[in-house]
Amino acid sequence: MHYNYLIVGAGLFGATFANLAKKAGKSVLVIDKRNHIAGNCYTENIEGINVHKYGAHIFHTSNKQVWDYVNSLVEFNRYTNSPVAMSKGKLYNLPFNMNTFNQLWGVHTPVEAQAKIAEQRAASGITEPCNLEEQALTLVGKDIYEALIKEYTEKQWGRKCSELPASIIKRLPIRFTFDNNYFNDLYQGIPCGGYTKLVEKMLEGIEVRLNTDFLENRTELEPIADRVVYTGPIDEFFEYRFGNLEYRSLKFENKVLDVENFQGNAVVNYIDSKYPYTRITEHKHFEFGIQPKTVVTREYPDSWELGKERFYTVNDSKNTELYSKYKVLADQLSKYIFGGRLAEYKYYDMDDVIERAMVIFNQENN
Ligand code: FAD
Ligand code: UDP
Repeated sequence: MHYNYLIVGAGLFGATFANLAKKAGKSVLVIDKRNHIAGNCYTENIEGINVHKYGAHIFHTSNKQVWDYVNSLVEFNRYTNSPVAMSKGKLYNLPFNMNTFNQLWGVHTPVEAQAKIAEQRAASGITEPCNLEEQALTLVGKDIYEALIKEYTEKQWGRKCSELPASIIKRLPIRFTFDNNYFNDLYQGIPCGGYTKLVEKMLEGIEVRLNTDFLENRTELEPIADRVVYTGPIDEFFEYRFGNLEYRSLKFENKVLDVENFQGNAVVNYIDSKYPYTRITEHKHFEFGIQPKTVVTREYPDSWELGKERFYTVNDSKNTELYSKYKVLADQLSKYIFGGRLAEYKYYDMDDVIERAMVIFNQENN
């Protein structure tokens, strides 16, 4: 059998590309080295609950085309991410909004909250923030930085806030309304039945081979298709010729508990450094579950070395430069398309990855 496309990786990039190619009448083979599809958004059913095995995943987007596409495959529920944060024995709403400001300072109006932040911003004396600490102090002031950011960020990244890029903290919204929605996007939800079901739908009617590592079987796999879509790590593809790209890893500890409702929310962040984990996820709340038991996951930040699961890219200047060297090599291989978070070494959200696969597929086929 000869295929138009061999797709390496059954994550969202590979599955979207495969789905579009199949719809366009192309023949497709999808392989993955893991024993399951769906990549890092894989959900596994435990006690009737869809457990997010590689960390909590909330679908959010402002891209209507992407939203319509995923909704054409499965139904999404109305879940809105509203995590709470435990800091020094007290719970605070996230992202930083009027509820948080009220809990922290007792203020009641946006004018009072803005005045507090302006006063702390002025006291910091920083005009041009050069790192995450300075960025946080100028965005939200000292009190929020110390109560909700510093210790969480330092354990998450294993580095001091003063040594981290400012961009990380800019992801979090700051609002002067009583709105606990963690995201600003127009659309948000969780696929009813979990992400694995979404990816199953994408791959419907497509041949999928699991437990198949492309790089270990390259000689026999490469010739079986006209084009290869590679979504694995770009440095591994080139046998780490220039050295390896760095990542931040995570460890997950799952527990089935014989209680109906453990923490009353899908995500609770633990800020203080005395907790070795950053958050506890209670998966049933993503789908408003009423099962008699519950499954909770503690998420521990972890250093990364070769052999460990890759989670967060480290987009500092050293790694960005290294990636660009691999990109030059990748661009020379006309048979290959490199796409997704590992092959492009980029922190992509799920909607970004779907959009990117759509764009690349359309470029290919127009
Ligand atoms: P992946 O999902 O990693 O898929 C790549 C696949 O390729 C894997 O299955 C892998 O096994 C396979 N593969 C690699 N090498 C080979 C090989 N040699 N041979 C065969 N197969 C191979 N995004 C959101 O939008 N919302 C969230 O709330 C969110 N939360 C996240 C939380 C965490 C902890 C993390 C780490 C990420 C989160 N993301 C979130 C991002 C989301 O996980 C990614 O956008 C998405 O999974 C990327 O899809 P991908 O297909 O590029 O990569
Ligand atoms: N962050 C924080 N306190 C929190 C939550 C997040 O300081 O309670 C910071 C932390 O540096 C984190 C960044 O904000 O890396 C981005 O948070 P997000 O929730 O987007 O991280 P992710 O879901 O990607 O782990």
